[in-house]
Amino acid sequence: VDDNLLGLTLADLQLLGQDLGERPFRARQLYRNLYRRHCFSLAEMTDLSRSFRERLAGRFTIRLPAVERRDRSGDGAEKFLFRLDDGHFVESVFIPDEDRITLCLSTQAGCAMGCEFCATARLGLQRQLGAGEILGQYYAIAAARGLRDQAVNVVFMGMGEPLLNYDAVMTAFRILADPEGTALSRRKITLSTCGLPDGIRRLGLEPVRSRLAISLNATTDESRSRLMPVNRRHPLAELLAACAEFPLIRGERLTIEYVLIRDLNDTDADARRLIRLLRPLRCKINLIPYNEIPGVLLRAPLEARVAAFQTLLVAAHYTAIVRKSRGADIRAACGQLAAAVPGSGETPPE
Ligand code: SAH
Repeated sequence: VDDNLLGLTLADLQLLGQDLGERPFRARQLYRNLYRRHCFSLAEMTDLSRSFRERLAGRFTIRLPAVERRDRSGDGAEKFLFRLDDGHFVESVFIPDEDRITLCLSTQAGCAMGCEFCATARLGLQRQLGAGEILGQYYAIAAARGLRDQAVNVVFMGMGEPLLNYDAVMTAFRILADPEGTALSRRKITLSTCGLPDGIRRLGLEPVRSRLAISLNATTDESRSRLMPVNRRHPLAELLAACAEFPLIRGERLTIEYVLIRDLNDTDADARRLIRLLRPLRCKINLIPYNEIPGVLLRAPLEARVAAFQTLLVAAHYTAIVRKSRGADIRAACGQLAAAVPGSGETPPE
């Protein structure tokens, strides 16, 4: 049984408080202590009665995932390797920019999607993370780096496919976006998917949801199916239809992520096909130069190619941003998260 209070919603805590014979506002105080005040010690929650705290402590604990290792990149990014209660490992990345900080969180240990270009894929799916383990990455990094919530963006873009761990991801999202919880703006939280139409439709029905990013990465079914096995079950037409139907709010745009791989999807013809495919969508495009991973033959694109590709998109009036690779020297960049475990015989990140 999970006896960790971290990850419980306000409704969960209210039931629990009721069980312990407490008035409803006590659960709200507990909730605010956890998520708003980053207080993870029952002893320090002195706004709760001693007796409530003692009865809670008899049945529950508050645990953040253990920081197993920290790797600092020369560019300021920092990768955290977390050990979960049952010994599984996940990685998260702290990415500072001039005006904001982005935390890239994992939603599964490993991943089942099998994308050719991604290091996490090679782990296979180890297990789902609970909401507390997703939030735990946030709070553990916030504690380690002394973060103020207001300055933070969250992307569910680390290890795993968030739409295949829908309930836990949504629970974590709701707490992060709750003004009484972590109180991040929901516009600062992005979920990135390899493109599962059912999950996209389900997300679209949520009254409150994160922003949505789609990892497109190819412009023909043939090449996308080769890179991303998910495309064999859900080809481009089906994915793009789900995207076109996704109910955007005022001013909102989808983010289309496109990993540029040398000679494979980075030609002018690809750029033109991409423009055509995206025409029905309100979107902006993030171009991610492929980060090479050991044992995979795919190559990073030439810089001039990246620039030419971007120029074509911009000429077609798209917002197209080239995502500078961050943390590549510590294997913290997109697609490089593989939770290499110290002392396991696997190669740890240099
Ligand atoms: N499963 C989700 C989130 C994890 S992948 C998804 O597919 O979106 C996060 C992003 O990293 C995706 O856009 C993916 O296309 C990109 N990515 C994966 N491997 C990469 C690599 N080796 N180099 C650059 N980007 C990569």
